[in-house]
Amino acid sequence: METSPAARRLSTRFVAGETLEQALEVARKLKAEGITVTLDHLGESVTTLEEAAEARDVYLRTLDAIHAMGTDGNVSLKLTQFGLDLGTAECVANVERLVARAAELGSFVRVDMESSEYTDRTLNLVHELHAKHGAVGVVIQAYLYRSQADTEKLCAAGIRVRLCKGAYLEPAAVAYPRKSDVDAAYLSLTKCLMERGVYPALATHDEALIRRIRQFADERRVPRDAFEFQMLYGIRRDLQRRLAADGYRVRLYVPFGKAWYPYYMRRLAERPANVFFILRNLFRR
Ligand SMILES: Cc1cc2nc3c(=O)[nH]c(=O)nc-3n(C[C@H](O)[C@H](O)[C@H](O)COP(=O)(O)OP(=O)(O)OC[C@H]3O[C@@H](n4cnc5c(N)ncnc54)[C@H](O)[C@@H]3O)c2cc1C
Repeated sequence: METSPAARRLSTRFVAGETLEQALEVARKLKAEGITVTLDHLGESVTTLEEAAEARDVYLRTLDAIHAMGTDGNVSLKLTQFGLDLGTAECVANVERLVARAAELGSFVRVDMESSEYTDRTLNLVHELHAKHGAVGVVIQAYLYRSQADTEKLCAAGIRVRLCKGAYLEPAAVAYPRKSDVDAAYLSLTKCLMERGVYPALATHDEALIRRIRQFADERRVPRDAFEFQMLYGIRRDLQRRLAADGYRVRLYVPFGKAWYPYYMRRLAERPANVFFILRNLFRR
């Protein structure tokens, strides 16, 4: 799929392009609209340490380039792309290089959260590197039962959290199966982050939820620059622009690179209507 020209054309719905230059071009356009970015070099579950080191080097270049643009753009990465399945020590060393560079630049590294088999290792790594360098934060998934306790610990350590609903297929033993429970957990974690967290990032396209977050922030007089909304590139552009126009901080997660297939499939799985979009494009002349 990743090398087929027809399939690649479809990927542009959610992916900025294959190269760093293309991602920076998107970042420039968004900057003009008052929207900032976190860049994600696509790739996960690498199978050799050489690939992990290559990913680290691409990220080092990305961090420098986005910093040079003069936005408060930053980067988001997945630990399995940095070698977590191949060795924790090697993975920590790769991420540490990037976090140390981000600290030098006054920038920031966000560690995405993958499936629940990685939650403990991801949180441990982030706590460890934050204690040494700052400049790193993590993601909490509202669908996991454990997230309230994890969030409390992150807030106590002063670590920035991005809150999302969660994108992986998890068993009922670890995650709420019902959407209404996930939404309720999201709201309750938002309140906790707004009260005790450091510059929370609320990552969702759920308009009803966003309305309730805005309401809560207004009631508690939380300033609009004390948190940010985050959304994915290519999803709900209308809502992104409206929030920015209303004076909220908005950051888009902008993926780029050749290894777009797993990311793309997660986006399709989230919304069946996307499959019709793909089919329509496949049959369009
Ligand atoms: C910035 C950002 C970073 C993220 N990082 C992580 C991470 O590290 N780990 C992780 O597990 N998950 C991550 N996610 C994904 C997240 O967990 C959800 O799977 C995803 O955001 C969909 O949930 P939602 O909150 O938008 O709400 P939903 O209830 O799923 O959707 C609400 C509405 O948003 C729109 N929408 C949502 N998804 C799509 C889509 N794919 N295509 C078109 N429209 C859509 C629709 O209008 C839908 O009705 C991230 C999401 C964002 C925005």
